[in-house]
Amino acid sequence: MVKVYNTLGREKQELKPLHGKNLSMYVCGPTVYGPGHIGHARTYVAFDIIRRYLESRGFNVKFVVNLTDIHDDMIKKANEQGITIFELADKNIALFFKDMDSLGIKKADVYPRVTEHIGAIIDFVKELQDKGFAYETDDGVYFDISKFPGYGKLSGIKAKEQKTGTRVETDKYDKENAKDFALWKKQKQENEPAWDSPWGKGRPGWHIECSVMSSKHLGEQIDIHGGAVDLIFPHHENEIAQSEARSGKEPFVKYWIHSGFLNVDGQKMSKSLGNFIQIPDLLKKYDARTFRFFVAGLHYRSRIDFTEKAMEKAKNTLKKWDLFIERLLGWKDGDESKEADAVVEKTREEVNAALDDDFMLPNAWAALQKMQTELNKSMGEETFGKENGEHALDFLKQVNKFLQAFKFEQEKSELSKELLGLIKKREELRAEKKWEESDKIRDELAAQGVLIDDTPNGTKWHLQQK
Ligand code: AMP
Ligand code: ZN
Repeated sequence: MVKVYNTLGREKQELKPLHGKNLSMYVCGPTVYGPGHIGHARTYVAFDIIRRYLESRGFNVKFVVNLTDIHDDMIKKANEQGITIFELADKNIALFFKDMDSLGIKKADVYPRVTEHIGAIIDFVKELQDKGFAYETDDGVYFDISKFPGYGKLSGIKAKEQKTGTRVETDKYDKENAKDFALWKKQKQENEPAWDSPWGKGRPGWHIECSVMSSKHLGEQIDIHGGAVDLIFPHHENEIAQSEARSGKEPFVKYWIHSGFLNVDGQKMSKSLGNFIQIPDLLKKYDARTFRFFVAGLHYRSRIDFTEKAMEKAKNTLKKWDLFIERLLGWKDGDESKEADAVVEKTREEVNAALDDDFMLPNAWAALQKMQTELNKSMGEETFGKENGEHALDFLKQVNKFLQAFKFEQEKSELSKELLGLIKKREELRAEKKWEESDKIRDELAAQGVLIDDTPNGTKWHLQQK
C-alpha cells in the first residue's frame, strides 16, 4: 500500500486512483521566459522519482506537464529582447527539454502549451460566467471567490473581507489575502499579444490554463496534481475554484503533492543576489547523476539547501556506490551465503516500506547504506559468492529504476582504472621492497576511502565505512 501526504487535508492517505491502476498525474510546468534553474531541476527530479517509483509499483501513470508560454513576465522579457513571445517560448522550451533530458527525467506523455489551448480557455471562462462564477469588468473577466464556498480549502487562506470586487489584476499576489482573480485580461496596448474573445481582444489570466489543460488531457477529476510549495496559494487554490465551479464535481484533484523549495547557501535564489544557477551551469560542474543523487538523498517535501559542501558529499557518497557496484560486477570469489541474501532481501523490504510511506527516501538510504557496509564486510571475509553478488545487483537495479544515478557498466570506470593502477603499482613497489613509496600509495588510497588489505592471496581492497 502506497501512502502519500495530501496537502488537501494535510495528512498521509492511501493512494487509491480514481480508475483502478490508471493514475493521472499533472505537474505545473515552467514559465518559459528564461532558461530553467536548479529549483526547477529539484522539483522535476523529485516528481520524476515519484512517477518512476509509482510505475515500478504497477500504476499506469499518465503524466502531463504544461508549458506556460503566455504570462506577464513573458511579455516583459520578449519586449526586452526585441522578439515575439512565441520566439521566446520556442527558444526556452527547446532548452527545457534538453535540460530535462540531461537530468535523466523521463518525458511527460503530453506537454500542452497555453497558446495552443486559447479556444478551450475561452469556452471554460464563458461557462464560468454563464454559471455565475465570473464577472466582466473594464479590464477583464474575474472569478468571484465569494460564489465558491470551498475557497481556501487547500491553503487555508480566505478573503480578509468577503467583498466582491477586490481584485488582483496583475500576477503579483498578496500572499495573505485572497481576492477575485483574473480569468481573462483585456488587451491594454496594441503590442500586447491578444486573441479574439466574447470580451474583445485579450489573453488568459495566470491560473486558468492548468484547469483547462488538465481537464482536456486527463479529465475533469485527476489523481495527483503536483508542483512546489510556492504554488499552493494562489495558483492551486484558484485552480480548484475554477475546476470545481465549472464541473460541479469534487474533488478536482484527489491528492495534492507539493515539493519543497530549493535555496542556495541558505538564501532564496535570485538574480539580484547573484546566486541564481541555471541547469546547464550546474551540469558543467557536477554530473546529472550527482544532482539526482543529491535530490534523492532528501525527502521531496523538505526544503533543500544547495551548497558546495552538500554537493561534494553527494559526489563522494555516489563514488563509493560506484566502487561498490563495480566490486559486485567483478565478484567471483567466496562461498555463497544465505546471510548475504537475507541482508539483501531485508533491505529490499525496508526500501519498499520507506518509499511506500510518502516516498521517504532518507529512510531508504539508511537501509541501503547499512547493506553496503554489511556486504562489503562479507566480501572481505569471503563469505559472499557470485550468486550473492548477482542478487545484490538485481536489487540495486530495481532501486535504480527510480533513482537513475547508479551505473552498471561492465567495463571499469576511469575512477576504478586509476584505483587498480595504483594498487598494481603498489604491489610492484612492495616486490621491490620500496616500503616508503608503497605506504604513500596506501595512504593516498585511504584518503579516498579505499582501504588496502595485504593477504596471502594478493592485495585486496575494500571501502571504508563511516
Ligand atoms: P515557474 O517556472 O516559476 O513557473 O516554476 C515551475 C515549477 O518549478 C513549479 O512547480 C514551481 O513550483 C517550481 N519551482 C520554481 N522555483 C523553485 C525552487 N526554487 N525550488 C523548487 N521548485 C521551484
Ligand atoms: Zn499550474
